[in-house]
Amino acid sequence: MSKKVLIVGGVAGGASAAARLRRLDESAEIIMFERDEYISFANCGLPYYIGETIKEREKLLVQTPESMKSRFNIDVRINSEVIAVDTNRKVAVVRSKARGEYEEQYDCLVLSPGARAIKPNIEGINSKRIFTLRNIPDTDQIKAYVDKKGINSAVVIGGGFVGVEMAENLKDRGLEVTLVEAAPHIMAPFDTDMVALVEKELSDNGVEVILNDGVKAFKDNENSVEITLNSGTKLSTDLVILAIGVFPDTGFLKDSGITLGAKGHILVNERMGTSAENVFAVGDAIEVVDFVNKQNTAVPLAGPANKQGRIAADNIAGISTSYKGTQGTSILKVFGLTAACTGNNERTLKRLNLPYKVITIHPSSHASYYPGALIMTLKLIFNEEGKVLGAQGIGYDGVDKRIDVIATVIRLGGTVTDLTELELCYAPPFSSAKDPVNMAGYVAENVLAGKVEVITAEQLQAYDQGNTLLLDVRTVDEFNNGHLEGAVNIPVDSLRERIDELDKSKEILEYCQIGLRGYVASRILTQNGYKVKNIDGGYKCASMLNFKPTKVDNLDNPKRLMIDSDTQVVKGEVQKGADNYDKSLDVCGLCCPGPLIQVKVSLDQLNDGQILKVTASDPGFYEDIRAWCSKTNNELVEIGRTKGIIQAVIKKGNKLKVLNHSCSSDILQKDNKTLVVFSGDLDKALASFIIANGAAAMGKKVTMFFTFWGLNILRKPEKISVKKNLIESMFAFMMPRGSDKLKLSKMNMMGMGGKMIKMIMKNKNISSLEELIKSAMESGVEVVACSMTMDLMGLKQEELIDGIKIGGVGYYLGEAEESNVNLFI
Ligand code: FAD
Repeated sequence: MSKKVLIVGGVAGGASAAARLRRLDESAEIIMFERDEYISFANCGLPYYIGETIKEREKLLVQTPESMKSRFNIDVRINSEVIAVDTNRKVAVVRSKARGEYEEQYDCLVLSPGARAIKPNIEGINSKRIFTLRNIPDTDQIKAYVDKKGINSAVVIGGGFVGVEMAENLKDRGLEVTLVEAAPHIMAPFDTDMVALVEKELSDNGVEVILNDGVKAFKDNENSVEITLNSGTKLSTDLVILAIGVFPDTGFLKDSGITLGAKGHILVNERMGTSAENVFAVGDAIEVVDFVNKQNTAVPLAGPANKQGRIAADNIAGISTSYKGTQGTSILKVFGLTAACTGNNERTLKRLNLPYKVITIHPSSHASYYPGALIMTLKLIFNEEGKVLGAQGIGYDGVDKRIDVIATVIRLGGTVTDLTELELCYAPPFSSAKDPVNMAGYVAENVLAGKVEVITAEQLQAYDQGNTLLLDVRTVDEFNNGHLEGAVNIPVDSLRERIDELDKSKEILEYCQIGLRGYVASRILTQNGYKVKNIDGGYKCASMLNFKPTKVDNLDNPKRLMIDSDTQVVKGEVQKGADNYDKSLDVCGLCCPGPLIQVKVSLDQLNDGQILKVTASDPGFYEDIRAWCSKTNNELVEIGRTKGIIQAVIKKGNKLKVLNHSCSSDILQKDNKTLVVFSGDLDKALASFIIANGAAAMGKKVTMFFTFWGLNILRKPEKISVKKNLIESMFAFMMPRGSDKLKLSKMNMMGMGGKMIKMIMKNKNISSLEELIKSAMESGVEVVACSMTMDLMGLKQEELIDGIKIGGVGYYLGEAEESNVNLFI
């Protein structure tokens, strides 16, 4: 007799079970209930449709009720919610839009109801501007809202996979995006040392990342939502995406007798069978066994849901297949970056008190001599027996295949030696003769064999440094460009000659840039009787650990904002085309004003209308070239920034037009004010901010360009921990730290003069320099720090007060062109 099988939920797990069952059993009667209107849609594609990478909505709809009927003979009932299950009588109670409430009997039942987005009971949570994303109706609502005129900003709450994908896609739509995460870091499946790379990529692409700060309340204003964070910070935005996680959608099972776990997940066995006879459950709604540590957990991913659906169908059809657990292999695109992981991370293993070892390497995506090789960071976690427990990879190319290979090895119970023995495809454009996966295996084997002892950058932070010596074995130049505080520098190549400089009674913690030379140094030192630990992943990992996302200047939007001339809607589209260029110029490595000079020289060699493609690595170039092009009548056809490299496509303009353009009537219309603040004297700083405030008060646009000693006015008063070389550290020590430490240009009298001026100003109720700076910035005065001088003096952005823009000479000149007053102080 044919079986009657009911399936609850018509997307990943449900549709997979239905299709497999039909392929196995042509005679079964299969009815699939779906609460919503759509079945078998691509949940994972929803953020990309909102971001308009996926352009056609139909592409999200993998199957329709009609196609499921004609191909698989499945009775799909949409708008039909199963509201209860009676496992004694073997019936499901259905509430249908078309038929009202009715019961349907079953021989077998498959539950795949998925999960719902968490919406906590916070004040103001029901605002119409707050959205969650789970299905097609959610997607339609969010997209329609973003498409509306005047929607310029979004705050995404929650830095998980969906949150980060939404942040990227909303940024792609040209919105100002802030990502708020309550935990110290986003992306919980990644360890802290790895995830900083993702946070940096978000920051670099103009997404403001706020960590360690949850939402306290929402408040609907007339045209926006105000968000109050636990820290007291207030954000105002047009749109909120709430992506703080999911909970199993199993409320309808509460009286069914089916056993649920502590958080409401359905408990299943290896065959996907629940506690009730002939009832199976799959997908986000179930508890699974973690493949690595064998503990119960919940992992809401599409791959496991589909596999489990197939296994449930097999068992209904009499094929005994079983599910061995979920290892959480997942991947995320973050602008240009790929972040992927599999198995357990350090956090999970620590929580479960499971011993592990870790190594981190930074191999190239393919042979470094073949163009386009990009460095990735690959972390491998394994136990004392060499069994691979987990891996995380972050980089711009080739990360997915490495993590997939390691995931396969984990699934097959493999060891680090297995990684070394894998024979993987190689030719220079694709990999290296020793693939990064082999390399990870070799390094891990060395650790297990005791050839090198490693300490992670995280462990280093909590290390007793009294009895240790921090040794940097990179070249002198590398050391001078930045090193760990307190490190001494002996390059690996001179280590043998200078080994006696090291105190044998101390434990040596040594590092190079990425760990390779550190390993060689460690071997030299160990064999000479020193007690040594190599800092895992080298300086690259250790310095990333200190990364803190900074406030984003929205001019840093990597994609050119386009304003639709009809609707005035900012679309954030990058102009395409210009693939055919007449000349290309690579100015990577040059600092301002070098790139602009080279651009000019190259354009001089081209005819009007010809195209120059420029590649640059100086961060200031992004703004400089925009200002420079608009002032020189050259057209900036395209500008973008990927993987830290800026690419600009410039169409050469007509110089005559520039001359005509800058005719006197034009100059008369220019009303901005520019001040170059060169001096770091208190009196001159006061004068410049008094003028700037005055001009701003008169409604003028004011730009203050701080260079050389003037930069000291903008320094934060407190010491900021940033990496500096010796000369930079000396400079930082000698220069006044901020407005309060400035001296008078005359009559300073060992600081007495300055104190007197401040006292007189206070008595006469005149604003202090600090107040003048604050009020200038609040009135919209643009405060720009010269990128070239910052570089020269070793000043880092973190050391300057918040809200400062970094720009080069090109930016300043562009602003000066629009001014009718330009002062040099
Ligand atoms: P779902 O696919 O959610 O299907 C459950 C269905 O059951 C829903 O349509 C629901 O309406 C219906 N339903 C619920 N209760 C009832 C009821 N009582 N009666 C009738 N119908 C009911 N995973 C990845 O691996 N990679 C990704 O890139 C990825 N991206 C994602 C992006 C987004 C925006 C989202 C939301 C999820 C993403 N996921 C991703 C997760 C993945 O989509 C889920 O893990 C997977 O869909 C779970 O399958 P499921 O069958 O358990 O639940």
